[in-house]
Amino acid sequence: MAGASRREYLGLVRTLFACGRFALVVLAPLTGCGTADTGADRPPRQHPDTGDTGADPDPVPASQDVISTDLHLDLKSLKGHAVVTVVTAGDADAIHLKVGDLVISTVKLDGADAEYTVIDDRIKVPAAAGSHELDVNYSFSAHEEWAGWMPKEGLTFDWPYFCGNLFPCNPDTADGLTFTFDVTGYADEMTAVYPTEIAAEAPPYMLAVAVADFTETDLGTTTAGTDVSLWTLPGGLDNGLQGTKNLVAGFDFLEQTYGPYSFGDHVGTVEAAWSDLGGMEHHPYWHSSTESMRSEEVHIHEAAHGWYGDGVRLECWEDLTLSEGTTSYIAGRALAESGGPDLFETYIEELDYLCADGSPANTIAMPTTCGAIDILEDPLWSMVPYMKGACFYEDVSHVIGTEALDLILADFYQQHVGGAARMGDMVEFIRAEVPAEQMAAYDDAVKVWLEDLACPSDYAERCTAG
Ligand SMILES: [Zn+2]
Repeated sequence: MAGASRREYLGLVRTLFACGRFALVVLAPLTGCGTADTGADRPPRQHPDTGDTGADPDPVPASQDVISTDLHLDLKSLKGHAVVTVVTAGDADAIHLKVGDLVISTVKLDGADAEYTVIDDRIKVPAAAGSHELDVNYSFSAHEEWAGWMPKEGLTFDWPYFCGNLFPCNPDTADGLTFTFDVTGYADEMTAVYPTEIAAEAPPYMLAVAVADFTETDLGTTTAGTDVSLWTLPGGLDNGLQGTKNLVAGFDFLEQTYGPYSFGDHVGTVEAAWSDLGGMEHHPYWHSSTESMRSEEVHIHEAAHGWYGDGVRLECWEDLTLSEGTTSYIAGRALAESGGPDLFETYIEELDYLCADGSPANTIAMPTTCGAIDILEDPLWSMVPYMKGACFYEDVSHVIGTEALDLILADFYQQHVGGAARMGDMVEFIRAEVPAEQMAAYDDAVKVWLEDLACPSDYAERCTAG
C-alpha cells in the first residue's frame, strides 16, 4: 500500500473489511502518509460462539433493576463468584439474568439455597418483589472471539451484550449498575489492570480487566485532581507517549467543561493486545489497541466516553449516536482546546466515504425505534453514528455558538449522568435552548444529519471546526 493516497487507503481498508463492516484505522504507522488520526472504537466482530442478539425477544422484565455486582474472577481456574443486588417491583415473581455460557454451581438467594432454572443463556430465580441478593458461584469459559475472557490477549471484552459470559447480568444498557471487582489467578510478574470499585452506575459492558507485563507511566494530574496513567506493553512506551501527549489537558478540559468525572480519581489508557485497531471505553482504565497507541484521537475518544456512553448511558442501541456522536464531538473539542490535532478534518474525510453516491456504509443516524435492532447486525453499526453525530453538533455550534453548545452538553450530562437517555432527548434538550431566530437552522441540522439518509451537499463546510 506504499504510495497509496489516504483516500484510496481508506477505501481499500473498507473493502478489505467488506460486508458493510468498517475498519477504524490509524493511518500513520501503516502508510507513512502523515500523522492524521482516525478511528476510535474497535471494529465489529461476529460472535459465532453465542446465539445472543441485541433485539432480545424475551428481555428481562422492565420491573427489575440490577443495582450492584460484587465480582471475583479467578483467571487460572476460570471460576467466578458474583453477588448481585437486584430490586424487583410490581408483580415480579422471579429474578432473570443472562448467564451466557457460564456453568452454574451454586445459587443462594438472600443467604439461602435457591431453586433456579437455567434455560439457554438465562437464569431464573423465583423471588417475590423487593430487594434481593443473589450469590452465584460458576465457571466461565475462555473465548477467542470478542465475547468474554480472551486468554490469548489477556483481557476481557463483552461489548455490546456479552457480559453474561463473564458474570450473571442484565446486558440492557439502560440498566446501569455499580461494581466491586477482584481478579486473581495470574502470574506474579504480570500486572492486572482493573478497577476495584466503580461507584457510579455504569453500563454492564464497561467493566474489564487486562493482564500483561505492563509498565505504568504517570502522565499527570488534572485540575480536579484526577490522576492520569498510561499502561504500555513491552516496547509500547514511545507510541503511547506520542498518543497521550495532550491527554491530561484534554481530560482536564472535559472535566472543566462538561462536569465532574464519575468513575473515580484515577484513569488512563491500557494498551490492549488486540489483533485489530481501535479502542474500547472500559472506564476508568480504557483500552487502546497497540496499533492505535500513537493515535491521539483514540485516547481522547475513549476518555470522553466517561461523559457520554458510560456516564450517560444509552436507553437502547438505536441511540448509539448519543454515545459515539457526542463522544466524537467532545473529543474533538478537547483536543482542539489542548493543542492537539483537528479531529474534524478526519471526520470530514470519513464523510467523504460515507456520503459518496451509493456508499454502502451510509445510514440514518437516529432511528426512531427502541430495542428493535441487533446492533452487531444493523447498518447503524458503522461510522455513521460517530461522524454524522459529531458533525451534527459541529453544525449546531455554528448556529448557536460553541460555548453555548458546551453549556448545553454540560447540563445534559449533569442531569443524566448515572442514567440512560435517548438521542431524541438530546435533540429536544438542545432545541429548548435555541433562540427563535435560529430555530429554522437548528431544525435543518437535525434533519440533514440525524433524520435524512443523504448527507447535506455542503457537509464538509458544515463540519469544519470553528
Ligand atoms: Zn466510541
